[in-house]
Amino acid sequence: MASVSREPDQAESIFRGIGVSPGVCQGPAVVVGPRVLKIPEYRIESHDVAPEVQRFKQALVATREELQKIKQELSQRVEASEAGIFESHMLVLEDQAIIDEVVHLVEKEQINVALALDRTAQKYISALEAVKDDYLRERASDLRDIAFRVHSHLLSDRSDNPLDDLQEPSIIIGHDLSPSMTALFDRETVLGFATDVGSPTSHTTILARSLQLPAVVGLHDASHRLKSGQPLLLDGYGGAVILHPSKQTLYEYGNLQRHHRDFADELTSLRELPGQTLDSETIRLMANIDHPKEVGDVDRFGAEGVGLFRTEYLFLNCTEFPDEERQYQTYRQVAADLERRPLIIRTLDLGTDKMPAALTQFEESNPALGVRAIRFCLQHQDMFKCQLRAILRASVHGQIYLLYPLISSIQELRDANQLLETCRQELQRENLPFDGKIKVGVMIETPAAAMIADALAREVDFFSIGTNDLIQYGAAVDRTNERVAHLYEPTHPGILRLIRHTIQAGRQADIPVGLCGEMAGYPTLVPLLIGLGIRHLSTSAPLIPTVKHLVRKLKLTQAQELAEQALAAQSGGKVMEACREFTARIAPELDIGH
Ligand code: PEP
Ligand code: MG
Repeated sequence: MASVSREPDQAESIFRGIGVSPGVCQGPAVVVGPRVLKIPEYRIESHDVAPEVQRFKQALVATREELQKIKQELSQRVEASEAGIFESHMLVLEDQAIIDEVVHLVEKEQINVALALDRTAQKYISALEAVKDDYLRERASDLRDIAFRVHSHLLSDRSDNPLDDLQEPSIIIGHDLSPSMTALFDRETVLGFATDVGSPTSHTTILARSLQLPAVVGLHDASHRLKSGQPLLLDGYGGAVILHPSKQTLYEYGNLQRHHRDFADELTSLRELPGQTLDSETIRLMANIDHPKEVGDVDRFGAEGVGLFRTEYLFLNCTEFPDEERQYQTYRQVAADLERRPLIIRTLDLGTDKMPAALTQFEESNPALGVRAIRFCLQHQDMFKCQLRAILRASVHGQIYLLYPLISSIQELRDANQLLETCRQELQRENLPFDGKIKVGVMIETPAAAMIADALAREVDFFSIGTNDLIQYGAAVDRTNERVAHLYEPTHPGILRLIRHTIQAGRQADIPVGLCGEMAGYPTLVPLLIGLGIRHLSTSAPLIPTVKHLVRKLKLTQAQELAEQALAAQSGGKVMEACREFTARIAPELDIGH
């Protein structure tokens, strides 16, 4: 980026991080320090135990009321689903395991309750921070936020929000910012924010997106190096904070912002339009969701339904597994919210890094090749049946499909279907209604499944190709290991042939073949997938407008030529090059921001 000559102390400098909420803003920095409470440590007499526990319960109630207020305030500004983030905060407050542990510490060790809460919270925070899964790791900062609020009630330290008396519109810089603090940001005075730590999946960044506040995370030590009052420009697209931006930089960003706004308006106008190529081939675009609360995104981003509901998060983010009734209510509600649009519910894909601590019975040296997904379910049949019954019961409330993950043999499919049949018979005997014709599909995520797709196709109603795993298992590359990330090639001709083989088997058996891995959301790869024969793509909802834009600029015949070339290519790099050229040619405007 060009910079004009300036005073030495005014030289432009750039802090790079990850853009997690789009937009550009310019204004003075307000650096907020970490919120620290000094936790007192002392022993208490036995007659003080009961009053101490009582104080804890009162602090929980006060925190609950406080969160309720934040939630109400927030729900006037954003979609109900985002305000629902504080539901999960409130659930932490009701978490019996944590409450019991604090009370137990006070009673057993006769220590003050603030110290007992601190020890308990730290224990859970460390455990959550050690998990590989980004989503769960982020729950550690939720817990830290809640513990801080309960502590400040216990210690009667109600120090004011440092942002309460912001004098002018500013950019907030912090080491970390809690979701509850972010929720209270006033759009009039907070232009955007940036933090040293954080990830795209944290609740704080989810809130930034719904409040439409530009945000950057992962700036390492910016909160130490920046000072309040310094002039900043924050780029939430590219993930940068620029100190003392030059005139040239401001000019360039002004243009960029205008361009993004025009393009975003154009994408929004696609919401009601079908995913259709220039030569009239229909491509169904669906949303992947990990949580029931994401179902609102289906309409917001113009998807036709839910192509993948990953149900494991219902099991991971709780202290007690949801029973059949709770699961039924959840699936029923999502189906009802979708108003008879398709909802593909994937049965539990627990294992590897998505394994609740309570179920970790033994260490596996290769967990990705071990008791995961359908294998885990077939070894825990009561749990599996509970989910199958809940899905079957919910199936009368919408257009529900059932999907088994990580099938690698025909026997696994048959075993799962046998259990499904048992559940059907039980429900019939109990006079509980279900859709007798519910469609059942398998995910094609292993090379073995892709190679026997013809046999599988005869026994299922649809396929959904899970490329995240198909690439991992097909190219033997751990999808979470950054040291081999360069070998994780979606365009590897070997992977493309597995995809092609699956599509052909699906066609021969006349069953639909969808694709729900991350590949479905990469604009560069969408023409290739369509050319290979995919007609149903399911991806993270915010990516759908861009994918739809691309589909509508595409000719199927050209995409087919691209796919033929790709199948004959020798290396993934060559295919990627051809895909990039193709996409740049038909939609040059997509280069901005992607
Ligand atoms: C996949 O493997 O492509 C997939 C969609 O499943 P997950 O990412 O949940 O493993
Ligand atoms: Mg998978």
